[in-house]
Amino acid sequence: MNIKDCLADFQIPQYLHYMDSAATSLMPEPVIASMNEYDRQYRANVGRGMHRLTRFATQRYQDAHDKVSGIIGGEKGTTVFTGNTTEAINMVAAGLDWQQGDRVVTTVMEHHSNLLPWLRLRQKGVEVVIIKPDSEGIFKIEAFDEAVTADTKLVAISHVSNAIGTIQPVREIAAICKERGAYFLVDGAQSVPHFPVDVQDIGCDFLCFSGHKMLGPTGTGVLWMKAEIIYPLMVGGGTVDDVDIEGSAEGYTLTSGYKRYEAGTPNISGAIGLAKAVKYLKNLGMDAIFRHEQKLTEHLLSGLAGINNVNIYGSLDPENRVGVVSFTIDRIHPHEIAYLLDERAAILVRSGDHCCIPLMKYLGLENGTVRASLYLYNTLEEVDLLIETIKEIARMA
Ligand code: PMP
Repeated sequence: MNIKDCLADFQIPQYLHYMDSAATSLMPEPVIASMNEYDRQYRANVGRGMHRLTRFATQRYQDAHDKVSGIIGGEKGTTVFTGNTTEAINMVAAGLDWQQGDRVVTTVMEHHSNLLPWLRLRQKGVEVVIIKPDSEGIFKIEAFDEAVTADTKLVAISHVSNAIGTIQPVREIAAICKERGAYFLVDGAQSVPHFPVDVQDIGCDFLCFSGHKMLGPTGTGVLWMKAEIIYPLMVGGGTVDDVDIEGSAEGYTLTSGYKRYEAGTPNISGAIGLAKAVKYLKNLGMDAIFRHEQKLTEHLLSGLAGINNVNIYGSLDPENRVGVVSFTIDRIHPHEIAYLLDERAAILVRSGDHCCIPLMKYLGLENGTVRASLYLYNTLEEVDLLIETIKEIARMA
Protein backbone atom coordinates (compact mmCIF):
# COMPACT_ATOMS: atom_id res chain seq x y z
CA MET A 1 0.00 0.00 0.00
CA ASN A 2 1.27 3.50 -0.67
CA ILE A 3 0.46 6.68 1.21
CA LYS A 4 -1.92 8.06 -1.43
CA ASP A 5 -4.04 4.89 -1.36
CA CYS A 6 -4.47 4.98 2.41
CA LEU A 7 -6.61 8.13 2.24
CA ALA A 8 -9.67 6.00 1.51
CA ASP A 9 -9.28 4.40 4.95
CA PHE A 10 -10.00 7.68 6.74
CA GLN A 11 -13.43 9.31 6.77
CA ILE A 12 -12.74 12.70 8.39
CA PRO A 13 -10.27 13.93 5.69
CA GLN A 14 -13.05 13.46 3.16
CA TYR A 15 -14.80 16.58 4.47
CA LEU A 16 -12.36 18.34 6.86
CA HIS A 17 -8.67 19.24 6.75
CA TYR A 18 -7.40 17.66 9.94
CA MET A 19 -4.08 19.18 11.06
CA ASP A 20 -4.14 18.39 14.76
CA SER A 21 -2.46 14.99 14.71
CA ALA A 22 0.11 15.98 17.35
CA ALA A 23 -2.82 16.01 19.77
CA THR A 24 -4.52 12.86 18.48
CA SER A 25 -4.28 11.22 15.10
CA LEU A 26 -7.16 9.90 13.07
CA MET A 27 -7.78 6.17 13.00
CA PRO A 28 -8.07 4.15 9.77
CA GLU A 29 -10.93 1.71 9.14
CA PRO A 30 -8.86 -1.51 9.58
CA VAL A 31 -7.97 -0.39 13.12
CA ILE A 32 -11.61 0.33 13.96
CA ALA A 33 -12.59 -3.03 12.44
CA SER A 34 -9.99 -4.93 14.52
CA MET A 35 -11.44 -3.53 17.74
CA ASN A 36 -15.00 -4.22 16.68
CA GLU A 37 -14.01 -7.79 15.82
CA TYR A 38 -12.71 -8.33 19.36
CA ASP A 39 -15.87 -6.90 20.91
CA ARG A 40 -18.19 -8.83 18.62
CA GLN A 41 -16.45 -12.14 18.14
CA TYR A 42 -13.98 -13.01 20.89
CA ARG A 43 -14.54 -10.64 23.78
CA ALA A 44 -13.18 -12.20 26.98
CA ASN A 45 -10.71 -11.31 29.70
CA VAL A 46 -7.03 -12.12 29.15
CA GLY A 47 -4.55 -14.30 31.04
CA ARG A 48 -7.24 -15.56 33.37
CA GLY A 49 -8.83 -18.74 32.20
CA MET A 50 -8.97 -21.85 30.07
CA HIS A 51 -12.03 -21.41 27.84
CA ARG A 52 -11.59 -20.87 24.12
CA LEU A 53 -12.40 -17.18 24.01
CA THR A 54 -10.05 -16.23 26.82
CA ARG A 55 -7.27 -18.29 25.25
CA PHE A 56 -7.78 -16.63 21.87
CA ALA A 57 -8.02 -13.12 23.35
CA THR A 58 -4.90 -13.75 25.47
CA GLN A 59 -2.97 -14.82 22.39
CA ARG A 60 -4.01 -11.67 20.53
CA TYR A 61 -3.16 -9.51 23.54
CA GLN A 62 0.32 -11.03 23.80
CA ASP A 63 0.85 -10.70 20.06
CA ALA A 64 -0.04 -7.02 20.40
CA HIS A 65 2.88 -6.54 22.82
CA ASP A 66 5.25 -8.26 20.40
CA LYS A 67 4.07 -6.17 17.43
CA VAL A 68 4.34 -2.90 19.34
CA SER A 69 7.80 -3.88 20.66
CA GLY A 70 8.82 -4.64 17.11
CA ILE A 71 8.19 -1.14 15.79
CA ILE A 72 10.70 0.34 18.24
CA GLY A 73 13.26 -2.47 17.95
CA GLY A 74 12.48 -3.52 21.49
CA GLU A 75 12.40 -7.29 21.33
CA LYS A 76 14.88 -7.62 24.18
CA GLY A 77 13.01 -5.21 26.44
CA THR A 78 9.75 -5.04 28.27
CA THR A 79 6.90 -3.30 26.51
CA VAL A 80 4.16 -2.37 28.94
CA PHE A 81 0.78 -1.09 27.82
CA THR A 82 -0.39 2.05 29.61
CA GLY A 83 -3.24 4.51 29.10
CA ASN A 84 -1.02 7.14 27.45
CA THR A 85 2.45 8.71 27.51
CA THR A 86 1.60 10.63 30.69
CA GLU A 87 0.91 7.43 32.60
CA ALA A 88 4.09 5.81 31.26
CA ILE A 89 6.26 8.72 32.44
CA ASN A 90 4.55 8.85 35.82
CA MET A 91 5.18 5.13 36.24
CA VAL A 92 8.90 5.74 35.90
CA ALA A 93 8.86 8.77 38.21
CA ALA A 94 6.95 6.81 40.86
CA GLY A 95 8.81 3.54 40.37
CA LEU A 96 12.45 4.56 40.85
CA ASP A 97 13.98 4.67 44.29
CA TRP A 98 14.71 8.39 44.81
CA GLN A 99 17.11 9.63 47.43
CA GLN A 100 17.59 13.14 48.76
CA GLY A 101 20.24 14.82 46.57
CA ASP A 102 19.50 12.82 43.41
CA ARG A 103 19.39 14.93 40.28
CA VAL A 104 17.03 14.87 37.28
CA VAL A 105 18.02 16.71 34.11
CA THR A 106 15.28 17.79 31.74
CA THR A 107 14.50 20.78 29.50
CA VAL A 108 12.36 23.88 29.28
CA MET A 109 10.79 22.50 26.10
CA GLU A 110 9.03 19.53 27.67
CA HIS A 111 5.34 18.82 27.51
CA HIS A 112 3.92 19.14 31.04
CA SER A 113 3.61 15.35 31.09
CA ASN A 114 7.40 15.07 30.91
CA LEU A 115 8.01 17.89 33.36
CA LEU A 116 5.51 17.81 36.23
CA PRO A 117 6.32 14.22 37.27
CA TRP A 118 9.95 15.35 37.73
CA LEU A 119 9.11 18.66 39.39
CA ARG A 120 7.00 16.74 41.90
CA LEU A 121 10.14 14.90 43.01
CA ARG A 122 11.41 18.14 44.53
CA GLN A 123 9.19 17.15 47.46
CA LYS A 124 11.62 14.25 48.01
CA GLY A 125 14.69 16.45 47.89
CA VAL A 126 15.49 15.70 44.25
CA GLU A 127 17.18 18.52 42.33
CA VAL A 128 15.61 19.20 38.93
CA VAL A 129 17.91 20.88 36.42
CA ILE A 130 16.23 22.50 33.40
CA ILE A 131 18.26 22.98 30.21
CA LYS A 132 17.40 25.70 27.66
CA PRO A 133 17.67 25.41 23.85
CA ASP A 134 19.04 27.81 21.22
CA SER A 135 16.72 30.13 19.29
CA GLU A 136 15.84 27.35 16.81
CA GLY A 137 14.83 25.02 19.63
CA ILE A 138 17.90 22.78 19.37
CA PHE A 139 19.91 21.81 22.45
CA LYS A 140 23.68 22.02 22.51
CA ILE A 141 25.11 18.71 23.55
CA GLU A 142 27.62 20.59 25.76
CA ALA A 143 24.70 21.71 27.94
CA PHE A 144 23.94 18.07 28.76
CA ASP A 145 27.61 17.29 29.18
CA GLU A 146 27.74 19.98 31.86
CA ALA A 147 24.41 19.23 33.57
CA VAL A 148 24.62 15.43 33.76
CA THR A 149 26.78 14.97 36.85
CA ALA A 150 27.68 11.79 38.72
CA ASP A 151 24.68 12.27 41.04
CA THR A 152 22.24 12.51 38.12
CA LYS A 153 19.82 9.63 38.39
CA LEU A 154 17.82 10.31 35.26
CA VAL A 155 17.72 12.49 32.16
CA ALA A 156 14.31 12.98 30.52
CA ILE A 157 13.76 14.66 27.16
CA SER A 158 11.24 14.65 24.32
CA HIS A 159 12.64 13.15 21.16
CA VAL A 160 10.53 15.69 19.24
CA SER A 161 8.95 18.83 20.63
CA ASN A 162 5.16 18.80 20.44
CA ALA A 163 5.18 22.60 20.44
CA ILE A 164 7.75 23.43 17.74
CA GLY A 165 8.53 20.10 16.06
CA THR A 166 12.32 20.04 16.50
CA ILE A 167 14.12 16.68 16.69
CA GLN A 168 16.63 16.36 19.55
CA PRO A 169 20.02 14.60 19.49
CA VAL A 170 18.95 11.67 21.67
CA ARG A 171 21.78 9.33 20.69
CA GLU A 172 24.41 11.81 21.82
CA ILE A 173 22.54 12.45 25.07
CA ALA A 174 22.25 8.68 25.63
CA ALA A 175 26.03 8.35 25.33
CA ILE A 176 26.53 10.99 28.05
CA CYS A 177 24.00 9.26 30.31
CA LYS A 178 25.71 5.92 29.83
CA GLU A 179 29.08 7.40 30.68
CA ARG A 180 27.76 9.05 33.88
CA GLY A 181 25.55 6.14 34.97
CA ALA A 182 22.25 8.03 34.61
CA TYR A 183 19.04 6.49 33.32
CA PHE A 184 17.77 8.02 30.08
CA LEU A 185 14.06 8.44 29.41
CA VAL A 186 12.92 9.48 25.95
CA ASP A 187 9.43 10.87 25.49
CA GLY A 188 8.66 9.51 22.04
CA ALA A 189 5.07 10.77 21.81
CA GLN A 190 5.91 12.87 18.76
CA SER A 191 8.66 10.73 17.21
CA VAL A 192 7.47 7.12 17.19
CA PRO A 193 4.39 7.99 15.02
CA HIS A 194 6.47 9.84 12.42
CA PHE A 195 9.83 8.20 11.71
CA PRO A 196 11.78 5.03 12.50
CA VAL A 197 12.73 4.93 16.19
CA ASP A 198 14.92 2.16 17.54
CA VAL A 199 15.59 1.87 21.26
CA GLN A 200 18.79 -0.13 20.72
CA ASP A 201 20.10 2.47 18.31
CA ILE A 202 19.27 5.36 20.67
CA GLY A 203 20.59 3.55 23.75
CA CYS A 204 17.86 4.76 26.12
CA ASP A 205 16.51 3.01 29.22
CA PHE A 206 12.88 4.07 28.85
CA LEU A 207 10.79 5.07 25.85
CA CYS A 208 7.26 6.37 26.38
CA PHE A 209 4.70 7.01 23.65
CA SER A 210 0.98 7.19 22.91
CA GLY A 211 -0.99 4.83 20.69
CA HIS A 212 -3.62 7.47 19.95
CA LYS A 213 -1.08 9.67 18.15
CA MET A 214 -0.08 6.85 15.79
CA LEU A 215 -3.40 5.72 14.29
CA GLY A 216 -4.37 3.75 17.39
CA PRO A 217 -7.28 4.20 19.78
CA THR A 218 -7.44 6.71 22.62
CA GLY A 219 -6.60 5.24 26.01
CA THR A 220 -3.50 3.46 24.68
CA GLY A 221 0.12 4.20 25.47
CA VAL A 222 3.39 2.37 25.87
CA LEU A 223 6.26 2.19 28.30
CA TRP A 224 9.28 0.35 26.95
CA MET A 225 11.98 -0.47 29.49
CA LYS A 226 15.44 -1.86 28.89
CA ALA A 227 15.10 -3.92 32.05
CA GLU A 228 12.66 -4.27 34.91
CA ILE A 229 14.24 -1.35 36.72
CA ILE A 230 11.18 0.23 38.31
CA TYR A 231 8.80 -0.90 41.00
CA PRO A 232 5.21 -1.12 39.66
CA LEU A 233 2.93 1.83 40.31
CA MET A 234 0.04 -0.55 40.96
CA VAL A 235 -0.10 -4.14 42.09
CA GLY A 236 -3.05 -6.51 42.03
CA GLY A 237 -4.66 -9.02 39.66
CA GLY A 238 -2.31 -10.37 37.03
CA THR A 239 0.94 -9.02 38.51
CA VAL A 240 2.04 -11.89 40.75
CA ASP A 241 3.41 -15.43 40.58
CA ASP A 242 2.49 -16.23 44.16
CA VAL A 243 0.77 -14.75 47.16
CA ASP A 244 1.87 -16.11 50.52
CA ILE A 245 0.45 -13.95 53.26
CA GLU A 246 2.66 -15.53 55.93
CA GLY A 247 5.69 -15.75 53.63
CA SER A 248 7.99 -12.97 52.45
CA ALA A 249 7.85 -9.49 53.92
CA GLU A 250 5.55 -8.27 51.14
CA GLY A 251 3.44 -11.41 51.12
CA TYR A 252 3.61 -11.80 47.35
CA THR A 253 6.08 -12.47 44.56
CA LEU A 254 5.77 -10.27 41.51
CA THR A 255 5.80 -11.94 38.13
CA SER A 256 8.24 -10.88 35.40
CA GLY A 257 7.77 -9.17 32.05
CA TYR A 258 5.03 -6.73 31.12
CA LYS A 259 2.46 -8.46 33.35
CA ARG A 260 4.24 -7.19 36.45
CA TYR A 261 3.27 -3.65 35.43
CA GLU A 262 -0.26 -4.18 34.11
CA ALA A 263 -2.44 -4.61 37.18
CA GLY A 264 -6.10 -5.40 36.62
CA THR A 265 -8.02 -5.98 33.40
CA PRO A 266 -6.27 -3.99 30.67
CA ASN A 267 -7.65 -2.09 27.67
CA ILE A 268 -7.82 -5.25 25.55
CA SER A 269 -9.56 -3.89 22.46
CA GLY A 270 -7.25 -0.85 22.66
CA ALA A 271 -4.18 -3.10 22.60
CA ILE A 272 -5.56 -5.03 19.64
CA GLY A 273 -6.32 -1.78 17.82
CA LEU A 274 -2.86 -0.41 18.56
CA ALA A 275 -1.24 -3.58 17.19
CA LYS A 276 -3.29 -3.16 14.01
CA ALA A 277 -2.21 0.49 13.80
CA VAL A 278 1.44 -0.59 14.09
CA LYS A 279 0.92 -3.12 11.31
CA TYR A 280 -0.67 -0.41 9.18
CA LEU A 281 2.27 1.96 9.74
CA LYS A 282 4.76 -0.81 9.00
CA ASN A 283 3.00 -1.65 5.75
CA LEU A 284 3.34 1.95 4.65
CA GLY A 285 6.92 2.11 5.95
CA MET A 286 8.07 4.60 8.59
CA ASP A 287 10.69 5.97 6.18
CA ALA A 288 8.06 6.62 3.53
CA ILE A 289 5.83 8.32 6.12
CA PHE A 290 8.69 10.60 7.20
CA ARG A 291 9.56 11.48 3.60
CA HIS A 292 5.93 12.34 2.87
CA GLU A 293 5.73 14.55 5.94
CA GLN A 294 9.06 16.23 5.16
CA LYS A 295 7.76 17.14 1.71
CA LEU A 296 4.63 18.69 3.23
CA THR A 297 6.61 20.43 5.98
CA GLU A 298 9.11 21.95 3.55
CA HIS A 299 6.23 23.24 1.43
CA LEU A 300 4.44 24.69 4.45
CA LEU A 301 7.57 26.34 5.87
CA SER A 302 8.51 27.98 2.59
CA GLY A 303 4.91 29.12 2.05
CA LEU A 304 4.68 30.67 5.53
CA ALA A 305 8.13 32.28 5.30
CA GLY A 306 6.91 34.49 2.48
CA ILE A 307 3.93 35.97 4.35
CA ASN A 308 4.20 39.36 6.07
CA ASN A 309 3.38 39.41 9.80
CA VAL A 310 3.84 35.63 10.15
CA ASN A 311 6.48 34.32 12.59
CA ILE A 312 7.55 30.67 12.55
CA TYR A 313 9.06 28.93 15.61
CA GLY A 314 11.63 26.14 15.66
CA SER A 315 14.15 24.99 13.08
CA LEU A 316 13.46 25.81 9.42
CA ASP A 317 15.43 22.80 8.26
CA PRO A 318 13.01 19.92 7.45
CA GLU A 319 15.80 17.44 8.31
CA ASN A 320 15.71 18.65 11.91
CA ARG A 321 12.00 18.57 12.46
CA VAL A 322 8.69 16.85 11.91
CA GLY A 323 5.49 18.34 10.51
CA VAL A 324 4.56 20.13 13.72
CA VAL A 325 4.64 23.75 12.60
CA SER A 326 4.04 26.51 15.15
CA PHE A 327 3.49 30.09 14.09
CA THR A 328 1.93 33.38 15.12
CA ILE A 329 0.51 36.29 13.17
CA ASP A 330 1.28 39.73 14.59
CA ARG A 331 -1.66 41.36 16.38
CA ILE A 332 -4.06 38.38 16.03
CA HIS A 333 -4.63 36.00 18.96
CA PRO A 334 -3.71 32.37 18.14
CA HIS A 335 -7.20 31.19 19.21
CA GLU A 336 -8.77 33.62 16.75
CA ILE A 337 -6.53 32.34 13.96
CA ALA A 338 -7.48 28.73 14.74
CA TYR A 339 -11.15 29.68 14.76
CA LEU A 340 -10.86 31.52 11.43
CA LEU A 341 -9.00 28.63 9.78
CA ASP A 342 -11.87 26.34 10.72
CA GLU A 343 -14.62 28.83 9.76
CA ARG A 344 -13.14 29.84 6.41
CA ALA A 345 -11.54 26.65 5.18
CA ALA A 346 -12.48 23.74 7.50
CA ILE A 347 -8.82 23.51 8.55
CA LEU A 348 -8.46 22.13 12.07
CA VAL A 349 -5.38 23.25 14.00
CA ARG A 350 -4.43 23.64 17.65
CA SER A 351 -3.78 26.98 19.38
CA GLY A 352 -2.52 28.02 22.81
CA ASP A 353 0.34 26.80 25.00
CA HIS A 354 0.32 23.15 23.84
CA CYS A 355 0.86 22.00 27.45
CA CYS A 356 4.27 23.70 27.30
CA ILE A 357 3.81 26.77 29.50
CA PRO A 358 7.55 27.02 30.44
CA LEU A 359 8.54 27.00 26.75
CA MET A 360 5.95 29.63 25.85
CA LYS A 361 7.26 31.83 28.68
CA TYR A 362 10.84 31.23 27.53
CA LEU A 363 9.92 32.28 23.97
CA GLY A 364 7.97 35.28 25.28
CA LEU A 365 4.72 34.01 23.76
CA GLU A 366 2.07 35.02 26.25
CA ASN A 367 -0.81 33.69 24.13
CA GLY A 368 1.04 30.70 22.74
CA THR A 369 1.08 29.79 19.06
CA VAL A 370 -1.02 28.26 16.32
CA ARG A 371 0.15 24.72 15.62
CA ALA A 372 -0.56 22.85 12.40
CA SER A 373 0.50 19.22 12.78
CA LEU A 374 0.61 17.01 9.72
CA TYR A 375 0.45 13.28 9.23
CA LEU A 376 0.36 10.68 6.52
CA TYR A 377 -3.21 11.49 5.45
CA ASN A 378 -2.45 15.18 4.74
CA THR A 379 -1.80 16.32 1.17
CA LEU A 380 0.08 19.10 -0.63
CA GLU A 381 -3.28 20.53 -1.73
CA GLU A 382 -4.33 20.87 1.90
CA VAL A 383 -1.06 22.59 2.75
CA ASP A 384 -1.65 25.02 -0.13
CA LEU A 385 -5.10 25.76 1.24
CA LEU A 386 -3.60 26.38 4.67
CA ILE A 387 -1.01 28.80 3.25
CA GLU A 388 -3.60 30.69 1.20
CA THR A 389 -5.98 31.00 4.16
CA ILE A 390 -3.18 32.21 6.44
CA LYS A 391 -2.33 34.83 3.80
CA GLU A 392 -5.93 36.08 3.92
CA ILE A 393 -5.94 36.17 7.72
CA ALA A 394 -2.53 37.90 7.88
CA ARG A 395 -3.87 40.65 5.61
CA MET A 396 -6.41 41.44 8.34
CA ALA A 397 -3.63 42.14 10.86
N1 PMP B 1 4.71 14.24 25.54
C1 PMP B 1 4.57 14.82 24.35
C2 PMP B 1 5.81 15.26 23.62
C3 PMP B 1 3.30 15.00 23.79
O1 PMP B 1 3.19 15.58 22.61
C4 PMP B 1 2.18 14.57 24.50
C5 PMP B 1 0.77 14.78 23.95
N2 PMP B 1 0.54 16.04 23.42
C6 PMP B 1 2.37 13.96 25.74
C7 PMP B 1 3.64 13.81 26.23
C8 PMP B 1 1.21 13.44 26.53
O2 PMP B 1 0.58 12.44 25.82
P1 PMP B 1 -0.77 11.79 26.37
O3 PMP B 1 -1.75 12.91 26.44
O4 PMP B 1 -1.13 10.75 25.37
O5 PMP B 1 -0.45 11.24 27.70
